[in-house]
Amino acid sequence: MAVPKYDVIVVGAGPGGCASAALLQKWGMKTLLLDKNDRVGGKSLNMSKDGYTYELWPVLATPMLNTKFQEVATELGVDIKMSDQVPAGKGGGFLYKPPKSKKYESFILVPPFMIPERLTKEEIDEVNRLFGDMAALTPAEMNALDDVNFHDYLCRYNVSQSVYSYLAVMVNILFVEPIDLVAASEMAKTMNDFTTKLGSAYFVGGQAQLFETFMKAFKRDGGELRLRTRVERIIVENGQVQGVYTDKGTFKAPIVVSNAGIQPTVLKLVGAEHFDKSYANHIRDLVPSLGLMGSRYFLDKVVFEDSAYIIYSDNSWWNMERYMKAKAGEIPKDMLIIVFNPQGFDPKLAPKGKQVILTATLCVSDPKMKNMKGWLDALDEQVTKFNPELRKHTIRREDYTTADVSRVTRDSVVPGQGGECIGLGQIVGQCGHRKPSPTAPIQGLFYVGVDAAGYGVGIHHATESAVNVAPIVLRHHQTH
Ligand SMILES: Cc1cc2nc3c(=O)[nH]c(=O)nc-3n(C[C@H](O)[C@H](O)[C@H](O)COP(=O)(O)OP(=O)(O)OC[C@H]3O[C@@H](n4cnc5c(N)ncnc54)[C@H](O)[C@@H]3O)c2cc1C
Repeated sequence: MAVPKYDVIVVGAGPGGCASAALLQKWGMKTLLLDKNDRVGGKSLNMSKDGYTYELWPVLATPMLNTKFQEVATELGVDIKMSDQVPAGKGGGFLYKPPKSKKYESFILVPPFMIPERLTKEEIDEVNRLFGDMAALTPAEMNALDDVNFHDYLCRYNVSQSVYSYLAVMVNILFVEPIDLVAASEMAKTMNDFTTKLGSAYFVGGQAQLFETFMKAFKRDGGELRLRTRVERIIVENGQVQGVYTDKGTFKAPIVVSNAGIQPTVLKLVGAEHFDKSYANHIRDLVPSLGLMGSRYFLDKVVFEDSAYIIYSDNSWWNMERYMKAKAGEIPKDMLIIVFNPQGFDPKLAPKGKQVILTATLCVSDPKMKNMKGWLDALDEQVTKFNPELRKHTIRREDYTTADVSRVTRDSVVPGQGGECIGLGQIVGQCGHRKPSPTAPIQGLFYVGVDAAGYGVGIHHATESAVNVAPIVLRHHQTH
């Protein structure tokens, strides 16, 4: 049987892989998209069981307006259906427990602004100065902030402890990084988006509907999607990509776009021996984001009214010091907790009167992290304290850890890596002009997804990467 021949093979049907494959096929390149999973969506894939539809873990798309999701959909000529704005006001959102208090207060510094009355006028003026300055940064000033961490940037302002905690929590949940590692440019760009393009979005039917929609266009245009197909090796001969070996056979193409993560691609799928030492060492030294772990609760009653809850105190957010303690095995007494209710966005996602709730907390990215059970039980304890109804109405609880995240998404090829939540860490030295190029130093090899191009939050970031990388791939195809 003749070996199939394609213009391009995209490895991985995560957000970056789906969007780039659909664009390349639309622009006339014969495209094969491969994924080891049995459905598309990568880290944001959807499941359906017993009448409940849910993501494997909390996933919200940010921002809401003028998005790269819409840009791709418009180019493909498909409609994406976003859920209505977050139903608010029933006790959800950012919930801050001030020192020595037992009561949680709503706290939000991006639209719709809800600055607690406790802040003095001077403190509010300082918040406005911070946000105003971030909005007014010139491109050169923004570039310079690629080399400054957000904690150091914040030290230029006299913000109160509660504002600092809020911003640290934002860094932790948006980038899954300690506040004193994340690049200030990444935070400034994302906060600017928040104020001009609003907060977070959910797609009707579940987050992966977005990628299913891109896939409809991909197939309509003649693209080929093969699921349950694991790429074992990207074939390189004489410094030129030739195709891929998979557990289902060999597929040939002069271009491979990898969505499998830059470290697994270079160090495993291609192999370090095909790169010069300095490049392979640079890739090996890259730092992944931290991880998230948590549980899915299938409930026989609606016990959380709102769509999302971020529960924290001054002790909950992570900087390097707290990360190092967690790495040494210390379980935080006051965890940073995310509670997500998909049904709050789309009521059809659970049987009437029932609910599925997804929780998450920060953890290390190591798929072999120690005492996972201890962390999960502590999280369960703390969420139950927040809402005692949870345990009473749980029919079934399923846990997920960094080992599951790695299994669903990227292989572990360097110690401590594989279970990262986002992908490549958005930290000083790895963002903006310091981010790895999406063009590998091998003819015909490109990277797409959060590791390669773009900025911002998870799935939007990966979709932006596709918008940036697809034209580079097309140009390579046309010139070779
Ligand atoms: C717990 C958790 C919560 C999150 N919450 C949010 C959130 O609220 N908002 C947000 O925007 N983002 C969130 N994210 C992050 C977001 O999902 C990721 O940043 C985003 O999905 C990365 O997209 P990507 O295109 O880079 O690749 P990925 O999503 O990592 O997809 C990579 C794909 O490649 C496939 N693949 C890998 N290796 C192979 C191989 N050898 N052969 C075949 N296929 C392969 C994988 O199966 C996978 O489908 C969360 C992630 C986690 C884990």
